[in-house]
Order: sequence, then structure tokens, then C-alpha cells
Amino acid sequence: MSTSKGVSVTERAKVALNDEFLRNAVKYTTEKLRDGKRQASSEQGNWEEWRERGRQIRLHTIAHLDYYLNQFIENAKANGVQVHFAATAAEAASITLGIAQKRQARTVVKSKSMVSEEVHINETLEKEGMESIETDLGEYIIQLAHEMPSHIIIPAIHKNREQIAELLSKEAGETLPPDTTILAGFVRKKLREKFLEADIGMTGCNFAIAESGSIVLFENEGNARMVSTVPKTQITLMGMERIIPTWDDLEVMATLLPRSATGQKLTVYMSGISGPRREADSDGPEEMHIIIVDNGRSLQLGDPDFQELLNCIRCGACLNACPVYRQIGGHSYGGPYSGPIGAVLKPALQKNVAEWDDIANASSLCGACYEACPVKIPLHDMLVYLRNRKVKEGHKAAEESIGMKGYAYIMANPKRLRRVLRLGRVGQKLLLTDNVIKAKIGPLKGWNQYRHTPGLPAQSFREQWRTLDLELQQTRREMDETIKARLEKERTQRGKGGSHS
Ligand code: SF4
Repeated sequence: MSTSKGVSVTERAKVALNDEFLRNAVKYTTEKLRDGKRQASSEQGNWEEWRERGRQIRLHTIAHLDYYLNQFIENAKANGVQVHFAATAAEAASITLGIAQKRQARTVVKSKSMVSEEVHINETLEKEGMESIETDLGEYIIQLAHEMPSHIIIPAIHKNREQIAELLSKEAGETLPPDTTILAGFVRKKLREKFLEADIGMTGCNFAIAESGSIVLFENEGNARMVSTVPKTQITLMGMERIIPTWDDLEVMATLLPRSATGQKLTVYMSGISGPRREADSDGPEEMHIIIVDNGRSLQLGDPDFQELLNCIRCGACLNACPVYRQIGGHSYGGPYSGPIGAVLKPALQKNVAEWDDIANASSLCGACYEACPVKIPLHDMLVYLRNRKVKEGHKAAEESIGMKGYAYIMANPKRLRRVLRLGRVGQKLLLTDNVIKAKIGPLKGWNQYRHTPGLPAQSFREQWRTLDLELQQTRREMDETIKARLEKERTQRGKGGSHS
């Protein structure tokens, strides 16, 4: 299920770069989110201390993940939850399907969950004749469009009101105007019916509290609360790294996550769920399942370069800060996770270098993602490690390899470099217009697609330096002569004066 065209990140990015609307829409929204974050974090005060506290909690938890996972599982079971463990995405899908079939489910309502995107749960259920409906507005829109999310927090960031109205009109069987209130009203009515007829409610999990075996959901629309209270059975899919030790730790995460994600001081709905409905409860599911998903996460444990990847709290701030994401959008990354976190997560979860495409190159390594990250994950370093591993394992383009060898050969010898520059200066004369090269040829083909290459200056920096140095020495010599002459003159005058006294 993808609308991404092309096979590699480069190919998909080319499609996105030619889509003016997409680039403007992504730029506009990410800028708004960034401004919101900047304001919310400065109003909070001591933001760096909050970040460091968040980082320490995540580092500690992941370093003791076995202990806290066991504690969580024991407490969840004591709360009446049925806990399952899935080593792979296929296993998670099959456990979910098994539960749904046992309950003879026909309709499943879902709240937003990135793990369920990873596991392709909608396709699995639909293949077996069940209706699986996204109830987060953005997710619902991209489900109707048969697309993947293009942002962790704002899945339909790339769509405008007209496009959304067109999609919803098809669903409504009548033309709906591109009016936000009317469109939201239609979706609300449609989903209410689905909440009431659903046999199963599926949620993700923002945080899992080890000390009480509870899951915590952050959301703004109230749909996750409906999903987790109306249907008789609840299934929660959670990545195995979602754990935090205590409710006190949640306070730090609840300070960092909404501010970093959307610039909100607090998320609109924060639900803590500790098991199925009890006798005195007025609502809630009769049966609750938690499926803990590994799917490549445990491969990061003990890896000095990538373990910190598991600290991610999926806020999306690194996407909003990334100059590459802001130009090419989320679908270019070819998976549910996009932006800098997606560029690292996708290859890291696979570990199979041969299957990586050029995704780790979708970064300028500027470090804006690290600056934005509320738990200080060094994504820019990880992107370099990924590139390094890929090259070390022999997966590199032949032309890149030849280029790098040539570069090393020239740079290793100053005389050689000077000769090449001299030749370049002569050669460029055929291509130079207004001191830039515009021709899309050879190695300049890609670069000159969207910008121009500055021509080589008449003199290199070293040559200019040598000229300057010679001029300086000459000035000094002239000064020396002038000073010498003046001193001589003064001495002579002093000598004359002495004969008068
Ligand atoms: S890497 Fe950091 S900034 Fe990016 S989604 Fe994860 S927590 Fe947020």
C-alpha cells in the first residue's frame, strides 16, 4: 500500500521535488509546528534540563529493558491483560488476526499507531474479510487515499482541503464542499456509527508504565478514548521499547512530547489504561490484549552506534527541523517512518545492508534533528555510521567509488592539486556563463538540476595567499627602508644639535 512512485529514495524524492504543492504544504505545516515548539519550550523554561532528564530516563530504561519489560508484563497480567510477544511484524499480524477471528469480528476500529503501520495490520484484517477503520482524522484520510502516513504526527500533511473534500465526497456518495467544519462533521458522524458497531478496538501505546502494567495514550481528537472504551475487545500493539519505569517518569515525558510534537503544553486527551473493565467500571473492554512487538528492535540492544535509537518517543520534531524532509516530504522515504528518524530506523531495524537503499544519504548531516530531539538522539551521527557500514560491506555505487579514489589521489599531493586546478580553469572556459556552470553534464548533472556550480576563481586561495604574502613582505621591506632612513636622519640631526650645546 503505497503511492510512492519510483524505487529508491532518490527516485521518489525527484517526484516530490517536482510537486510544488506538496513542498509548499509540508514547508508551511512543519514551520508552524517548529514555531509552536520553540514557543512552548521557551515558555516551559530550562528546556535543556528537561531534555537531559528525558534522555537519562530513556537511557536508563533501555539499558535495563529486560528488567522493566518483565515488570510491566507481570503487572499487566495481574491487571487481567492477556500479554503476547511478537518477534516479527508477521507474527504480530498473525496474533492480531487470531484474536479477531476468535471473537468473530467483522469491524475493527483503530486509533493512530505507528507500529500498526509497520505491521500492515489493516491489510491483514481486510484480506480476511474484516473491515478495519482508522479513526484518527489524518489516518482516516490517508486510508481512503490508500497511502502511507507522510509524517509521524500529521499523517496527511501533504494534502489540501480540496483533495480531502474529493476523497470524503467519494465516501459520502455526494459532493462535499472543501469546508473544514462540514468535512469534519461528515467524518465524525461516519465514525460514530463505526465505533458503535465495532467488535474490536485497536490502539497503539505512547508509553507503558512498568510499575503498574498500564499503557498511556496521548491524542487530540478523543477517538483513542472511544476505541479503548466502546468495543468489547481491545488490542494494543506496542513496540517493546515504549516502556518507562514509573508514573513520575511520565511527568517528564508528558512535558517533552506534546511540546516537541505540536507545541502544545498538554495533549488534549491523555488516557492511562490498566486492564479491562472491572465490576465497578461503567465502560471499558471486557477483554484486553497487549501485543509487544520486537520486529528488529532487539537488534539495536548492545549496539554502541544504534542502541539510543530505542530512546525515540515518536514526537516528529526531527522531521519538522530537517531541511531535507521539508523539501521531499514523507513518502520519499518509502516506509511508515520518515524524516531523520525514518532514515535511521528503517535500515537499522532491517540490519541487512544489502536491502538498504540510499535512505541514509537523505540528509545534509546538519544536526538540526539532534537539536530538535527532546531526548537528544544523535541521529546525524547514526546516519554517518549507516553510510560507513554500507561502504565497509562493499555496497557502494561504482562511480562514487571511482570518484572518491580520484579525489584522494588528487588531494594527497599539493603539486597534483595545483595542476588539476590549472587544467580545470582552462577547461571550464567552454562551460562558464556569468561565472557559473549551468550545464547538466557528467558529475554536475544532479547538482545543476536545481542550482548552479560556481566556476573556479582565476586564482586559488593558496595562490592568492602567496601573492598577498609577497606584497606583505615587499611592504615590510619598504617600511624597513623608510624607518631606517628616518632613524638615520634623526641620528644625524642629534649629532648636529650636540655641536651647538
Ligand atoms: S528521534 Fe527524537 S525528535 Fe525524532 S521522533 Fe524520535 S524523539 Fe522525536
